[in-house]
Amino acid sequence: MEGSQTVFISKCESYAEDTVSEIVRRHFDALGYDRSFFEGKRVVVKPNLVMKKAPDAAATTHPAVLGAVLSVLREYGVTPIIAESPGGIYNRQRLEGIYRTCGIESVASRYGAVLNFDTSAVQMPFPEGKKVKMFHVIAPVAEADVLIDLCKLKSHSLTKMSAAVKNLFGVIPGIEKFEMHASYPDYGDFGAMLCDLCEMLCRTKTVIAVTDAIVGMEGNGPTAGTPRKIGAVLTSPNPFACDLACEKLLGFEGTVPLVKEAKSRGLCPDRAEALKILGTPIAGAAVPDFKAPDSAERKAPSALTFFSSGTFGRFFMPRPVVIKDKCRGCGECVASCPKHTIELSAEKKNGTRTAHIRHASCIRCYCCQELCPFGAVKVKKNVILKIISSI
Ligand code: SF4
Ligand code: SF4
Repeated sequence: MEGSQTVFISKCESYAEDTVSEIVRRHFDALGYDRSFFEGKRVVVKPNLVMKKAPDAAATTHPAVLGAVLSVLREYGVTPIIAESPGGIYNRQRLEGIYRTCGIESVASRYGAVLNFDTSAVQMPFPEGKKVKMFHVIAPVAEADVLIDLCKLKSHSLTKMSAAVKNLFGVIPGIEKFEMHASYPDYGDFGAMLCDLCEMLCRTKTVIAVTDAIVGMEGNGPTAGTPRKIGAVLTSPNPFACDLACEKLLGFEGTVPLVKEAKSRGLCPDRAEALKILGTPIAGAAVPDFKAPDSAERKAPSALTFFSSGTFGRFFMPRPVVIKDKCRGCGECVASCPKHTIELSAEKKNGTRTAHIRHASCIRCYCCQELCPFGAVKVKKNVILKIISSI
């Protein structure tokens, strides 16, 4: 990754697996990932399987893109492991359900790839880390020589955009991710932690970022947004460079905290124009009016700057609200909240308990919105901010 600022972008209009395979093969050839590169190496493919959603929902890496990568790897004689620690509890039962629903199980079996069910984790030191000096990483990823970071391009309520760098948060085992949210409630700190994690992985193994941007997600991603056709596949030896290209492609340039952090560390150039783009130029793949998440408006207007930090700042940030009619009382948000600030009602309404958020302790990490299987958590803008913004 060191020093590489190359991103290969190809337009791709559909999930026809042959077409995507052709693109991935071309990208790998151009970037030097050929048979001899992979020989004797332990290869892990890490898709984005944030939760149990069908491929058409565009919340997870599409199985056709996984199939394309697996078909190229098979040509090179590689039998990869597919590994991911989705949101929530990391156990065999959850992995089985997610692999099946996301369409991963059938593709893996077609190409003879191995689905990971080993839920152990390994300590990986990173003394150079700015926020984190020791990570706990799922075993297959820790032991890999080559990690294919097979991400989905989406908007994201917490990080504004999810692509190659954010996808790697899924190497932290299960609910330890919630602890990381609790430890880094500040968005800048959270982005810095993600940069540490990605940097550590890039220093200990070859990371190849392959982005499924054929159909992405806009609005309230990473799971509650709307599918949006983008029509591209991006590959890079540098996840940070890949994210810089993605940021520009979505019209989010200069606004994604973790990309800002990567720039400040010299992990990618200051401007997307300084990237070495192979294939389609970014302008040729860019999408107009890509919707940011509702949470993107986090700052108080200048008139309220005095109050916009610390507790006051959090008060002004958009907050998660449970839509009672949609809530099924499943308790997923209760289990996912890093601050334990959600509880289910003692009383049932129409036979169902409903979730309630105590906003005083809420750190606005939006895990509840991300992991609610029924889309019952919405992010709402502060009313005072709304009125002042409209004046
Ligand atoms: S808000 Fe969503 S995750 Fe939470 S209990 Fe209701 S349905 Fe389940
Ligand atoms: S209520 Fe939701 S947004 Fe607030 S801390 Fe809990 S999971 Fe995060």
